[in-house]
Amino acid sequence: MSFDYDLFVIGGGSGGVRAARIAAGYGARVALAEEYRMGGTCVIRGCVPKKLMVFASSFPAAMTEARAYGWDAQIGAFDWTAFRAKLDAELDRLEKIYRAGQNGAGVTVFDQRATVAGPHEIRLADGTEVSAKHILVATGGRPFVPEFEGAEHVMTSNEIFKMEALPKRILIVGGGYIACEFACVFEGLGVDVTLWNRSPLLRSFDLECRDLIVDKMAARGIDIHTNCIVHRIEKTAAGLVVEAGDGRRETFDAVVYATGRVPNTEGLGLETAGVATARNGAVEVDAWSQTNVPSIYAVGDVTDRVNLTPVAIREGHAFADTVFGATPRQMEHDLIASAVFTRPEFGTCGMTEEEACKRGGVEIYVSTFRPMRSAFAGADDRVLMKLIVCTETRRVLGCHIVAPEAGEMIQLAAIAMKMGATKEQFDATCAVHPTMAEELVTMRNPTRHG
Ligand code: NDP
Repeated sequence: MSFDYDLFVIGGGSGGVRAARIAAGYGARVALAEEYRMGGTCVIRGCVPKKLMVFASSFPAAMTEARAYGWDAQIGAFDWTAFRAKLDAELDRLEKIYRAGQNGAGVTVFDQRATVAGPHEIRLADGTEVSAKHILVATGGRPFVPEFEGAEHVMTSNEIFKMEALPKRILIVGGGYIACEFACVFEGLGVDVTLWNRSPLLRSFDLECRDLIVDKMAARGIDIHTNCIVHRIEKTAAGLVVEAGDGRRETFDAVVYATGRVPNTEGLGLETAGVATARNGAVEVDAWSQTNVPSIYAVGDVTDRVNLTPVAIREGHAFADTVFGATPRQMEHDLIASAVFTRPEFGTCGMTEEEACKRGGVEIYVSTFRPMRSAFAGADDRVLMKLIVCTETRRVLGCHIVAPEAGEMIQLAAIAMKMGATKEQFDATCAVHPTMAEELVTMRNPTRHG
C-alpha cells in the first residue's frame, strides 16, 4: 500500500517538531500540521514567555540589593506595553526559527487543524484528506478551568501574555507550578497578588522545600489562602467580585486560573481510528509511545505522562529513532529534574523525603543557610539543600534545592544522579568555593533517618 507520507505529525510543539525533524533526517517523507503557531505551548504561551517574565520581575529586588551594595540605584515604573511588544517580537523570531527548522529538514508544514480519520488517514481543516504510514499525535494540553458561575471572566496562562495592561490586584487560583510561578512574577512586577487554592501549594513536592518557598512568598506580601474554593465570580464596575466557599469575598481586577491542564484530544477523531484514551482524554501509549492502533503513536502532554517540554522532545526523538532510524529506544521517565521558577527558585530531582520515608532505609541530609550575597545586603533569604540517600546502596535518590538559580544547579546534580552517583562520590568531589552549591558535597552527617 502506498501512502502520501511516511509520517504525519499532528501538532507543532516541542514533541512534534523534534519527531518530524529527526524522522525527515532519516529520509522519511514527513508532514506536520499546526492549527495555531509553530513552537507550541512552551515557546508561544508557556515556558519561554514565562521565563522572560520571571527575568522582568526580578529587577526591583535586584535594585534593592544594588543599593545595599553601595549603588545609588532607583527603579522607575515598569512599562508592560513596551515589554509585551518586545516579547511578541521575540516569540515571532522563535516561531520563525521553528518553521525554518522544519522547512530545512524537508518537512511539509500545513498551517491548519488536522484530525485523525482512520489508522492511516488524516483530514485537514480545508477538507483535504491525506494518508500516512504512521501518524504521530503531539497535540499537547490546554488549561483546565472548573465549572462555576462566572467562569467566563477568568484568564488562564494562555491569555496572560496578551493582557493589554497589568492589573493592580490579581487573584491567582491554583497551587501548582503555574500558579506559584505567576504569583511570584506578578508580585515582582508590583501587582497586588492573592493566591487561593483548595489544598496546600506545590503539594507534590518535598514538604520541607515547599514550606520554605511558601513562607518566603508570603513574606514578600503574596496573600495566600489554602482550603479555599471559588464558588462564584461577578463582574461589577469595581472589578471582579470573587466569592469562595469559606465566606471570603474580595474584588480583583483580574483572575487567573491555573488549576491544571488537560490533554488536547477533543474532536481529534481518535475514536474513528479506535485509539484508546484515558478518562481525562489522554492518549494511552506503551513505553514506545505506541497506541493500541499500531500505526498511531503519541508523545508529550497529550499522553499525560511527565508533562514537561524536555520530556516531550525526548519522547519525540526516541519515537523517530525507533520507527525511522532502526535504533529502537525508549524514553526513560525516571530521575527527570525540573525547576519551579518561583522566588526563591526550586530545583528538584528524584524522591521527596516523604516518598523516601515510606520506602524506608534512607538518610536525609539537609543544609539551610543564609546565602552570602543577600545576607550581605541584609535580606532574610534562606537557601535549602537536601539529599536523600539510600542507606544500603549509598545512591543519591533525591536532590532538592531552594536557592537562586536552583534550576541551573539541579541540572548538574541530575547528571550525577542519573549516573548512579553515591553520597561518597558526591563527598569525594571537591567543593567550588565560595558558592551555594558547595553544600551539596560538604554535608557530613545525616540530619535524619527515614
Ligand atoms: P498542576 O497540576 O501542577 O497544579 C494544579 C493545581 O490546581 C493544584 O494545586 C490543584 O490542587 C489545583 N486544582 C486542580 N483542580 C482543581 C479544581 N477543580 N478546583 C480548584 N483547584 C484545582 O497544574 P499547573 O496548571 O500548575 O501546571 C500544569 C503542568 O504544566 C504541570 O504539571 C507541569 O508539568 C507543567 N509546568 C511545568 C513548569 C516547569 O517545569 N517550571 C511550569 C509550568 C507548568 P490539588 O493539589 O488539590 O490537586
